Amino acid sequence: MQDIIDDLPNKAKEVEKENQKFFHKLRKKTPKNLDYIMQELHEEEFSKTDCLACANCCKTTSPIFTNADIAGISKHFRMKEHQFISQFLYFDEDNHYVLKSAPCHFLGADNECMIYDVRPKACREYPHTDRKKFHKISDITMNNIAICPATYNIVEKLKLVIEGKGKQ
Ligand code: SF4
Ligand code: SF4
Repeated sequence: MQDIIDDLPNKAKEVEKENQKFFHKLRKKTPKNLDYIMQELHEEEFSKTDCLACANCCKTTSPIFTNADIAGISKHFRMKEHQFISQFLYFDEDNHYVLKSAPCHFLGADNECMIYDVRPKACREYPHTDRKKFHKISDITMNNIAICPATYNIVEKLKLVIEGKGKQ
């Protein structure tokens, strides 16, 4: 798995221009059944993906922490919300609370999430490949292609489904 993760930024770079064009076209001409296609591709990919052997998302990028996430996690640790924020988070240029450091402080040595039951909504939904109106989050997806092997595979398969392109 580590070889795949290490190679992913290069592979993402190779298909970057093609993907930009693909998502541009997808936004202009969106198949009516895109939500259904994404659900199928997402389920197929994650049925054979072992996230515990990867955890590259948790190691390299921060989820957004909503107010509800902060309230839930602070309660879990019996901390005051402002203490939790000052210890772990900062307010980024997009006005979101994100982690101060990577890998995530709550990632265990075995790649288990130590706050799994109260993890942020963004973690529960990552990498958003089953999101409705998937074409509207292409900027996020373009970033995730270089981080998440499953997202890379799903987008390659989506290109095959929509226009017969992509790497198998
Ligand atoms: S909170 Fe858990 S799932 Fe979210 S980034 Fe940290 S370790 Fe990963
Ligand atoms: S969601 Fe993607 S990056 Fe995160 S652990 Fe699973 S395969 Fe790896």
